[in-house]
Amino acid sequence: MTGYTKPLPKPSPESRPFWEGCREGRLLAQRCSGCGRLRFPPKAVCPHCLSREASWEQMSGRGSVFTYTVFRRLYHPGFADEMPYAVALVELDEGPRMLSNIVNTDPEAVHCGMRVRVRFERATDAITLPKFEPTGEETR
Ligand code: ZN
Repeated sequence: MTGYTKPLPKPSPESRPFWEGCREGRLLAQRCSGCGRLRFPPKAVCPHCLSREASWEQMSGRGSVFTYTVFRRLYHPGFADEMPYAVALVELDEGPRMLSNIVNTDPEAVHCGMRVRVRFERATDAITLPKFEPTGEETR
């Protein structure tokens, strides 16, 4: 046991390569072979062109906070040591939006447009979580 007490994602056949990428420190998204669009979260079928074909592509791991909230109420005992914490929709520079935490900063300092980069946090042997931290760059 690792002592990790928070809920964990359960990789599906579609998302398994994404989680394997995280374990290797790589943020991946699907590139549709039919229309060329990035597909995230991972899906078996493209929502734009219905193609079932896709390849995996590494993202830069850099983006901006699209929107966010700060959790001040404890919904799960596993988060007790982290209160309050910021949950954000991060828009990657490549376009996909990912729901994650903004870490290594005061949650009150998080704002829309804040530049962030991915930071991988190993939760268990199987799961490494992509979180984001401020880059310190000027907001675009
Ligand atoms: Zn497509």
